[in-house]
Amino acid sequence: MRNILVIEDSPLVLKILEHLFRQETDLEPIFCASLAEAEVMLETSASLFFAAIVDLHLPDAPDGESVDLVMRYHLPCIVLSGSYNEQRRDELLMKGVVDYVLKESQHSYEYAFRLLHRLDHNSQIKILIADDSAAQRHYIRHILEPHHYQIIEASDGKETLRQLNEHPDLDLLVLDHAMPGVSGFELVKLLRQKLRLNDLIIVGVSADPKGSLSAQFIKHGADDFLRKPFCPEELNCRVMSTLERRDLLRALKKAAQFDALTGLNNRRAFYEQGLQMLQQAQRDKRQVSVAMLDLDHFKQINDGFGHASGDSALVVFARAMGNAFPDMLLGRLGGEEFALLTLHGADHVAQALDKLRQQCAGLHYAVGAPPLSFSAGLYQGEPEDLESLLHEADIRLYRAKQQGRARTVLI
Ligand code: GH3
Ligand code: MG
Ligand code: MG
Repeated sequence: MRNILVIEDSPLVLKILEHLFRQETDLEPIFCASLAEAEVMLETSASLFFAAIVDLHLPDAPDGESVDLVMRYHLPCIVLSGSYNEQRRDELLMKGVVDYVLKESQHSYEYAFRLLHRLDHNSQIKILIADDSAAQRHYIRHILEPHHYQIIEASDGKETLRQLNEHPDLDLLVLDHAMPGVSGFELVKLLRQKLRLNDLIIVGVSADPKGSLSAQFIKHGADDFLRKPFCPEELNCRVMSTLERRDLLRALKKAAQFDALTGLNNRRAFYEQGLQMLQQAQRDKRQVSVAMLDLDHFKQINDGFGHASGDSALVVFARAMGNAFPDMLLGRLGGEEFALLTLHGADHVAQALDKLRQQCAGLHYAVGAPPLSFSAGLYQGEPEDLESLLHEADIRLYRAKQQGRARTVLI
């Protein structure tokens, strides 16, 4: 739970904020209606707060004194204001507030909450600022720092490559175009084409007045582009939106790969990775083992204890399977049917299956429900065609069912 200090006196704004906070399970607001109240609160409990949302104009603080107060305690500060003033906004951003939000619509309040959520994630985000000008690096760092990112710097192309090598987990690169040695533009091509750093977000920056440069940057794989001079807000928005876009893409990829109930690979992902594994086994001239597993009398669990109990049986079984075969390719092919593929020999897999069968007796998934049991068909052969390998395993699974279930059939 994150405590958020809210310094605000307007009943209407408070009502909106309270409503939005009610929808947030991990954010807890603590409201102060005046500067005096906030002073006491921070003096006694500053360390309890994660961030602050601060009204720029309060009866006892007409000129942003509440912002200075919060900044003195080094709390990330999101400013709310009823009026827009460009000079004031720039002053505040240069002072190091996270952002300046106008009290104009539901959307702007929601933006403030997006900022709070991002702040929470940002300490995990690594940003590299690559610019040959120390002043420009300092300016960019000064803008990004209030957002709690981890920030690294590089002053030319060579150092940029070295830093990328040293920090393979870098999330975002703010890349100046005009640098001695390799230009920013050349670097984008190198990173995307040769080094295949496709996950790295690249935001190009240049003072070059040519409009075509931004297009070139983006065509070669940059995610966004900023022309110098840019204001703090512009950089922040671009960084935030590219990070959000990447997170969304990652979530989509995850949803497309994993089965939502059990977290195992879904059928498609199992086939995709299975094909790669077969190609590798062909190159190494090795055989593969494949097994199909199917829960016994699963329908009776659904019928006798409800669909939710059936679901939890699938979840605990998948977890046990993951623990039993940590280094093998696993997947839920559908319903209560699972598969595994490995370079291990069939004897090794058969032993692990027996161990999993013993563990099933101790798995709990519903009160009063019988122990889980499964049948398995296991096959070892040449890594030729995944479909036929699975078919061979399936034939053996059928035999296991016919021979009385709760067993593995290898021949
Ligand atoms: P056998 O021992 O011969 O395999 O019998 P069985 O009852 O396990 O197999 P059957 O194919 O007759 O029934 C499988 C059931 O699994 C039918 C289907 O409704 C249920 N099922 C499929 N997917 C899910 C799921 O995601 N959740 C739950 N709770 N049930 C599912
Ligand atoms: Mg079954
Ligand atoms: Mg079945």
